[in-house]
Amino acid sequence: MAKIINVIKGTKDILPQDIDTWQFMEQQALEVFNRYGYKEIRTPIIEATELFARGVGDTTDIVNKEMYTFEKSEKSITLRPENTAGVVRSFIENGMTRQTFPVKLWYKGPMFRYERPQAGRQRQFHQVGCEMFGIKEPSADAEVILTAASYLKSLGLDNLTVEVNSLGCPTCREKYKQRIKEVLKPEFENLCEDCQARYEKNPLRLLDCKVESCQKIFEKPEIKSVIYSDFICEDCAEHYSKVKEYLKQAGVVYSENKLLVRGLDYYNRTVFEIKSNNLGSQNAVCGGGRYDSLVENLGGESVPAIGWAMGMERLFSLIQKNPSPKLDGFVVSNYTPYALMLTQELRSKGLCVEFDMQNKKFTKQLEKAAKLAKYAIILGEDEIKNNTVSIKNLETSTQINVKREDVLKTIKG
Ligand code: ATP
Ligand code: MG
Repeated sequence: MAKIINVIKGTKDILPQDIDTWQFMEQQALEVFNRYGYKEIRTPIIEATELFARGVGDTTDIVNKEMYTFEKSEKSITLRPENTAGVVRSFIENGMTRQTFPVKLWYKGPMFRYERPQAGRQRQFHQVGCEMFGIKEPSADAEVILTAASYLKSLGLDNLTVEVNSLGCPTCREKYKQRIKEVLKPEFENLCEDCQARYEKNPLRLLDCKVESCQKIFEKPEIKSVIYSDFICEDCAEHYSKVKEYLKQAGVVYSENKLLVRGLDYYNRTVFEIKSNNLGSQNAVCGGGRYDSLVENLGGESVPAIGWAMGMERLFSLIQKNPSPKLDGFVVSNYTPYALMLTQELRSKGLCVEFDMQNKKFTKQLEKAAKLAKYAIILGEDEIKNNTVSIKNLETSTQINVKREDVLKTIKG
């Protein structure tokens, strides 16, 4: 026998038994985001590597360790690890800065990150996300968080925790970074290797380090008091308090997490995550924030923006699964051409119908119908002669004879 070829490590097939739930997530996205004024955008899966180096930030784990990058015709190309950079590229390239603001865009699709595969973490995974351009006011922050919460609610997930934080603006954040570096300097040798590397380039990222010895250091009173100090400037503080006020008024239950810094470089002011208690250690379903300088950094005009992304595999594992619906009908007949014709006719009227292509014994066909369908649509010699069909309700076992043109009415009511 020929050798079996397996799926690549960290990637998964989405199998037919799960597709109803996937399509449900996609349909709800279309429906909810449409109501919130978002238009779908589909950008390519491959982009210039430079887009992510500049757009996501070359001090991030994503760019440093997780990208799938290859050369083609002397160009460095990367499989997108996230979609915000691609959406911003397209926003600039297609002149959307000239449209009336806000410009609201949503996307869904596969992302690629070379990470250690584990529960809730794959190398090809799927995200659904929203990006809103052009509004700097805190009402936009509240609105995008509300959009995320409404989408989650539409999936039956309304028991998740929303966490918010403000990273301030480049000015106040810079001072905070310096203070963190100062206070951690005496402990440098005791930090983990990753934190030592982050210390110079991206000191805020130290705060969400999961290594126990680092966490112990951050717990020291003189260090903790700096980490938890209020560092954001007056303008940023006002923005942040408005966001919280609007969320409260809209009935969004949230908590503040000072250690929420997010992995990406481009965020400023509001950042947020939505978490579940039922996902183990990969518990974040949604991450997002404001990125007011990204459009400009990628060569566009200065346009403020804010957005979020959700991991669809993690949503999938939280959603209540319903069993696949049964067929509307199964045509039971030993007259194949008639069975085929009736099946065609009913399908064209919108019913999900099958017939027995192997022309097995009548009783076998009835058994199959009972397994697969709500109704057996029986087409015997008499029925063909009289232009009728017999319809057996397979739940109640009642059977009636109806005119052929009344099948749809009988089944669908
Ligand atoms: P994490 O801390 O879990 O690595 P992240 O900060 O890298 O998350 P984002 O870049 O904010 O994640 O992506 C948004 C969402 O996409 C995450 O909240 C998560 O639900 C999902 N996600 C991220 N990486 C993966 C992955 N490798 N496999 C599955 N889902 C993922
Ligand atoms: Mg990650």
